[in-house]
Amino acid sequence: MGAMSGEETPLFDRPGEATVARRDAFPVSGMLPDTAYELVHDEIMLDGNARLNLATFVTTWMDDHADRLYAQAYDKNMIDKDEYPRTAEIEKNCWQMLADLWHTPDVQAAVGTSTTGSSEACMLGGLAFKRLWRNARSAAGLPHDRPNLVMSSAVQVCWEKFCNYFDVEPRFVPLSDEHRVLDGNALEDYVDENTIGVVAILGVTYTGMYEPVAEIAAALDAIQRKTGLDIPIHVDGASGAMIAPFLQPDLVWDFRLPRVHSVSTSGHKYGGVYPGVGWVVWRDAAWLPDDLVFRVSYLGGEMPTFALNFSRPGAQILLQYYLFLRLGFEGYAQMQKAAQEVALYLSRGIAEIGAFELWNDGSDIPVFAWQLRPGHTENWTLQDLSDRLRMKGWLIPAYPMPDDLSDLTVQRIVVRNGLSMDLAAELLDDIRSATAYLDALPSPMPAAERPTGFHH
Ligand SMILES: *Cc1c(COP(=O)(O)O)cnc(C)c1O
Repeated sequence: MGAMSGEETPLFDRPGEATVARRDAFPVSGMLPDTAYELVHDEIMLDGNARLNLATFVTTWMDDHADRLYAQAYDKNMIDKDEYPRTAEIEKNCWQMLADLWHTPDVQAAVGTSTTGSSEACMLGGLAFKRLWRNARSAAGLPHDRPNLVMSSAVQVCWEKFCNYFDVEPRFVPLSDEHRVLDGNALEDYVDENTIGVVAILGVTYTGMYEPVAEIAAALDAIQRKTGLDIPIHVDGASGAMIAPFLQPDLVWDFRLPRVHSVSTSGHKYGGVYPGVGWVVWRDAAWLPDDLVFRVSYLGGEMPTFALNFSRPGAQILLQYYLFLRLGFEGYAQMQKAAQEVALYLSRGIAEIGAFELWNDGSDIPVFAWQLRPGHTENWTLQDLSDRLRMKGWLIPAYPMPDDLSDLTVQRIVVRNGLSMDLAAELLDDIRSATAYLDALPSPMPAAERPTGFHH
C-alpha cells in the first residue's frame, strides 16, 4: 500500500506539519484547509494570552452578541458608502454621539470620522492644524515652511510619527518630578508664530495620568493676551475620552473649552471594541479645512471623507454602535467604574507589599504604574519581576520613563473590562509571591539586555 497523502492522512502527519514549512518563500503548492488551519492555529498558541495581556489598552473581550455581529459584518468595507449606506449612516451616528458626549455646543456644526485607531485620528487632527495654520499664514503673506507642534515628552509615538511623516518640528516639553504631565508650565518658551497647535493627552500612555487640559488652555489664553497668538488644542483622548465623561464628569477637558478644536479616541480602547477603530471629532467644520476633504459617491450624490486609508473594515463601527446602544451612558459608567475599582484594589495591594512606590493609583483612567522603592534592593529590577510574572502568563511590562526621567523604570497595569476582581486577586497573589521569591535571592540577578523603549 502506498503512503496516504490526502485527507485520510492523520493531522500532524501531513506535509507542512510532519516537515518544517518554509517561511521565506512563497509556497509552490497549497495544502488541505484543515492542515493550513491547524498550522496557523497552533502557531498563535505561542503568543501570549490576550486576556492576561495587562500591557495593552486595547479590548480583548466582547460579549457573545458582539461576537455574533462581528461574524455577520466582517465583509463590510467602510469606504463603500454607496453600497452600504446604513453602515455609513451608523458611522455618522457614532461620531455625533461622541460629539454630544464631549459637549460640542452644536452637534450639527461638528464634523467627525471613524479611523483605524487613535494614531490615524491624531494624524488627521494634526493635519487639520497644519493646513489651517498654513492657509492663515499664506493669506497673511507670511512664511509657512517651518511648522511646529508642542506636546509633552510623554506623548504616544503616533505624534512623533505625525511630525516625522508630515514634516512638522516636534517641540517636546520635558517632564520632571514637579511637572509630571504637561500642565501649561513654561509653555510660552515653546510656542511661537509657527506653532500649529498643542497636544493635550487625556490619559498619558506611560502612567495613565490626565493632563489638565483646562490649565493648558488657560496658559494659552494668557499667551494670546500677551502675544496675539491664537493656538488651538487637540485632545488626544485615546483612553481618557472614553473614561472621563463617565468617571469624572465634572472635569472640564473637552469641547466645553473653546480652544479645543478636536478630540480623538480609540474605540478599541475604553470604547470597548476589538482592535481596528478610532474616532476624531472637530467642534466645528470650520476647523477642518475643506481642501483636505475628498468626496466619495454615496446614494447618487457625494459624501465627504477625510482619512489616510481607503478600504478598511466596517465591522468595528457596527460593534461600536452596538455598544453605544447596549450600554448607554449608564452602562459605560458602570463598566468603567468596575475597571477603576479593580485598578484601585490592585494599586492598593501593590503599595502594601512594601517593595514598591506607586507613581499613581488608577484614579484617572484605570491604569497605574509603580517603581521600586529607592534602596529596596540591589538584587533585582522590575524587569525581573515582569519576567517572573510572565511565567504565570501575566503580561505586565516594565520600561524606562521618557527623556529627562529615563533613569526611572516603572511597571504598569492597564485594567480593562474583562479583568474581574476575582482574577485580580489571583494576580495580586502572584505579584506577592514573585516579589518574595526575588527578595529571597542571595545575590543579584544576572543583567540582561533590555529594550530601551515602550510605546503602547
Ligand atoms: C494608544 C494611544 C495612541 C494610539 O492609539 P491607537 O488606537 O493604538 O492607534 C495615541 N495616543 C495615546 C495617548 C494612546 O494611549
